[in-house]
Amino acid sequence: MLCTDGPIRSLVGLSLAPEHRRGHGALYDAVNCGRIDIARLRNLVAAQRLPRAADDRIVLAVDVTPWLRPDANTSPERSFCHTYGRGKDQHHMVPGWPYSIVAALETGRAFATLAAMGAVEDSGDFPPFCTVKPGELLGRSRPNELELALIEQVLSSPTRAKLDITQLDNQAAAAIPDYRELAENPAVTWQTLADLHDRGLLDVSAAPSRRLVTGLRVIQSTLPRGFHKEVTGKVARAAEEIRLLWDFFQDTTVCANRKFADYFGVGELPDECCSNAGNRCSACWNDPTWPPRESRPTVADAFETSHPKSAGSPVDSTLHRRRLDDQVHRMIWDVRAGLHPTDLYNALRGEDSYYLAKSRRRVTLRRALVNSRYFGANPAVRIEDVHDSVARLADKNLVVQVGKVWRNVMYVQQEQGGTGRQ
Ligand SMILES: [Zn+2]
Repeated sequence: MLCTDGPIRSLVGLSLAPEHRRGHGALYDAVNCGRIDIARLRNLVAAQRLPRAADDRIVLAVDVTPWLRPDANTSPERSFCHTYGRGKDQHHMVPGWPYSIVAALETGRAFATLAAMGAVEDSGDFPPFCTVKPGELLGRSRPNELELALIEQVLSSPTRAKLDITQLDNQAAAAIPDYRELAENPAVTWQTLADLHDRGLLDVSAAPSRRLVTGLRVIQSTLPRGFHKEVTGKVARAAEEIRLLWDFFQDTTVCANRKFADYFGVGELPDECCSNAGNRCSACWNDPTWPPRESRPTVADAFETSHPKSAGSPVDSTLHRRRLDDQVHRMIWDVRAGLHPTDLYNALRGEDSYYLAKSRRRVTLRRALVNSRYFGANPAVRIEDVHDSVARLADKNLVVQVGKVWRNVMYVQQEQGGTGRQ
């Protein structure tokens, strides 16, 4: 939950969170209303304070993971997703939903905890190296005395093509009286250089640095007491939640309602819990003491089946067949030279190569198939289904077997001098 720490013991407990500004009845009203105002939720999330890295900078990590739905024509808002590793050394555009996850990063938890406990002081980030040249306004604009001394020090440095900021900071502190009044550490020295750059007195570039480093002053060189607990608290709480979840799904003997109640700290279960066939949990069905005239619902049986099969109603299978025929027909259409059922089978399953036992080598699927919108469209298809499908298409005179491959009838007729249509 966004606003409270730890597990939520009850819904109404959420009304104690400071963000909740109404009576607790309003919470249930909201739940009963059964609707989420997406726009307001979006604003609520966006209004949260962003975690920040040292120096108060916002550091974002982005992951884009597509959920490929190549054949889900009716799914809304699909777009083309980049995919990698589906063919050798290439990436394909496949229709699907690209999900972007953006996370705001904080400075490492150990470091942030040490800083919060006062053991170290975070002086901000800076590039370890920089290049410095005289600025365009040098000589025309008048810096203060300390700044002028720093500028002279920097420009007279033999290494100013790749200046080590930490070294510069030490040297400046040793050579320039009162330098620490201007900059107390390397991070501030860097900020001062950047400021002189902005004012046109120096031309500074951080290009020689590959990354930023964090300035750090050690105040206490031993680990503060309570550090371990501070750092691992969240992990420990998460581990406990996972253990409880695991236990909830593994435990087949204790009533599920009892386990819920225990989790939320409720003592007594209402009498109606698991009292009849309409509301009994799986664990209570497992206990053979339920009244003999009642019987377990078929849906409960289905959940217990180790290898569930689809219901296979006639409508479903007709639809399935029609869809498969459509896919097979279009793929054969796409490849003028024709396709072997194995090619169709592999393409539908989204496998871009297969092992040919006879010649002991891997065969790579042709590019047109891997690029096809039907690549991977039917991962559960069986080779028999493909054989049946081409046979049905042949019955409708849409495809014809030529040697080992199946070809589109029109192409064959065109080559034989026909018109392509009858
Ligand atoms: Zn139960």
